[in-house]
Amino acid sequence: MYRYLGGLLTRGAGGLYPAADTLLPASSLLRHRGYSQAVDPSDDPNFFTMVEGFFDRGAGIVEDKLVEDLRTRESPEQKRKRVRGILRIIKPCNHVLSLSFPIRRDSGEWEVIEAYRAQHSQHRTPCKGGIRYSTDVSVDEVKALASLMTYKCAIVDVPFGGAKAGVKINTKNYTVSCCENGPNRTRLVPVRVGPGIDVPAPDMSTGEREMSWIADTFATTMGYNDINAHACVTGKPISQGGIHGRISATGRGVFHGIENFINEASYMSQIGMCPGFKDKTYIIQGFGNVGLHTMRYLHRYGAKCVGIAEMDGSIWNPNGMDPKELEEYKLANGSIVGFPNSTPYEGSILEADCDILIPAASEKQLTKSNAHRIKAKIIAEGANGPTTPEADRIFLERNVLVIPDMYLNAGGVTVSYFEWLKNLNHVSYGRLTFKYERDSNYHLLMSVQESLERKFGKHGGSIPVVPTSEFQARISGASEKDIVHSGLAYTMERSARQIMQTANRYNLGLDLRTAAYVNAIEKIFKVYRDSGLIFT
Ligand code: NAD
Repeated sequence: MYRYLGGLLTRGAGGLYPAADTLLPASSLLRHRGYSQAVDPSDDPNFFTMVEGFFDRGAGIVEDKLVEDLRTRESPEQKRKRVRGILRIIKPCNHVLSLSFPIRRDSGEWEVIEAYRAQHSQHRTPCKGGIRYSTDVSVDEVKALASLMTYKCAIVDVPFGGAKAGVKINTKNYTVSCCENGPNRTRLVPVRVGPGIDVPAPDMSTGEREMSWIADTFATTMGYNDINAHACVTGKPISQGGIHGRISATGRGVFHGIENFINEASYMSQIGMCPGFKDKTYIIQGFGNVGLHTMRYLHRYGAKCVGIAEMDGSIWNPNGMDPKELEEYKLANGSIVGFPNSTPYEGSILEADCDILIPAASEKQLTKSNAHRIKAKIIAEGANGPTTPEADRIFLERNVLVIPDMYLNAGGVTVSYFEWLKNLNHVSYGRLTFKYERDSNYHLLMSVQESLERKFGKHGGSIPVVPTSEFQARISGASEKDIVHSGLAYTMERSARQIMQTANRYNLGLDLRTAAYVNAIEKIFKVYRDSGLIFT
């Protein structure tokens, strides 16, 4: 049986389909569900089902409270029915757009590329989520990643629904001009993107360059008369309306996320570690955007990177590696393998000795086949979906603290939100207040000095009021970067507190993932409940 999904060779003929996997040919679905990256074929759940399972666990815990909180005159049974109705609305993925488009190779040959964009939820709009380039992308993967985006946005109080796109392409096999004129210019943009509809961002194998192409294409096609056109995508270069701090935001958020838990004595005592970063060792899987920036901040705060895993090999140094040197080596050589200050690591480096393991590559890397052998006491999920439910259960049994993806890597979408607001405001952060703040600070110092001199006189000369080095560093007022960094740190801290409170309230121990889902579900539930939805 083969039902055509609207695979398109002509411009603009894309379509919007509820639950696209019901429309795909069965053979293609089976192909999509094969995960080349999965470590353990016997623990290879469908990614979307995996996220749904985590959702169900959270929903099961919070359901009674949601029923209790309903302020209606219905019977308890009716209330429960209503709550379950809303929960059933939250969980599934609303739409998946599936499309194919031709790109022309430099040789003149045409090739058809598949792509998907999933919008999991429109309880808040626009929808928000990255665009991933990978030959492994599938309907199931974009649905799972889009749903994680919905929950992630709720956890960090970013008012977006979740979305995700995957383009089935290995960019290493194409020239830049081929990519520029392919996925970005021709297909994904006109069909779906818009500042109030759906706002993509970078993900695996995409970055500022691709976002810039998308912004330009939108602004010169669909958005030609829209003054907010550049808010159609985030993660842009500064010259195209981007924001300072977006490139490193996810890694910086990962750092803050770990910081909030590693400094919490009660959590550290449960896993037998002392609080703080000093002398802690860590291993990162994936030295891309998230891995590199996470390494930079952890290094800056005293932790030691002893190992890194990449697609083409792993490197090891028990004395620690320098992120700057490694970044430069990778830029020059196209690989981390052979980095002078390291030795190659044979075997699975994920299982090597360290305090913190940071999967920052792809999903389902920690499965029931390796979870027992992981030595780290903290798993910090930089990647989306790196832990299967079986591995999650094993980590809980073994008292390993898993800081879940939907909280930990939310720094990217948080700063994307700041960028979107900047684009809608048409002014950069700090622009209006910068000089006023600096002048006010100098006036403050002057008035302290004058008060002291009035009180004590100036017999020995004037009394200088010298700002501390911390105050001196801030005296000029907050730059955009300062504002972004402090907004991100505040967001990560506030959400960590909420997760800890929920974990305590429901006696969840180290199960932060369930606590995070509970928080997300409560917040999304309130939006539906208060919008007057009736599902009885
Ligand atoms: P990236 O493409 O910049 O880097 C990924 C790196 O991981 C690449 O260097 C790749 O070679 C390596 N890699 C892939 N599979 C691997 C494997 N099996 N073993 C070792 N290395 C492997 O991608 P990224 O933007 O850093 O994203 C990484 C993860 O973080 C993804 O799960 C993504 O969804 C998630 N994430 C990214 C962002 C963001 O802002 N970029 C935000 C939130 C979550």
